[in-house]
Amino acid sequence: MAGHTRDIGEAAVPKERARQLWKHTSVRRHVHPALRSSLAEMAPGLERCMYCGDSQGTDIDHFEPVRINPLRTFDWTNHLLACSLCNSHLKRDLFPLADNGMPLLIDPSSEDPTVHLHLSLAAGTYIDLTDRGAMTIKVFGLNRQILIRGRRHAYRITPPLLGEWRIAREKGDVEEAEAWAECIWQQPTADVVQAMFHQAAAQGAQDIFADEPGTLALLRDPVIRTGLLRTG
Ligand SMILES: [Zn+2]
Repeated sequence: MAGHTRDIGEAAVPKERARQLWKHTSVRRHVHPALRSSLAEMAPGLERCMYCGDSQGTDIDHFEPVRINPLRTFDWTNHLLACSLCNSHLKRDLFPLADNGMPLLIDPSSEDPTVHLHLSLAAGTYIDLTDRGAMTIKVFGLNRQILIRGRRHAYRITPPLLGEWRIAREKGDVEEAEAWAECIWQQPTADVVQAMFHQAAAQGAQDIFADEPGTLALLRDPVIRTGLLRTG
């Protein structure tokens, strides 16, 4: 990777050399599979897209596009796993900047999206808290209908799954508890589960879960939080 980056830096037209190298047969055969499998291990759920969290992540996306910064073509921290819709149809080569030159898209691998985006659990929609949140929603179509429906399903199914995990844990059935934990975290749009835990511990939780006191109790249960809440 470092060798390829040096090669790009020394090229007459770095952008073209970067594109050429990225598509080179040996890079496709040897570099892409290793990158894809490493990213898949870090992706949410069952190798879901790091942007929408819903579809399978199939493409290696350059967060900062090759067109804009060819020197980051082989930079590990610039690679994300994305579905083809988010990568090829929505984000494409877009990389909007603020007036001060800062990127407007949130990098999900190094930034906390909750600073910029609030998930309305009941509605299944993302609400922007900052300009960067607004741009991220717009570019990735984070409020497209299919994602909203998926998030609503996740919000509905998660409390019973938490209850099942709790029962298995009380019975001391480790395998059963682990099977429920997988169902909870490996469902599509697992960002909903993260948001549920996050909002249950935040100020205003009583209002957010006013109609669902049972859900709030599960999300605040210390045994559930200790056993299930994963930060990674
Ligand atoms: Zn996606």
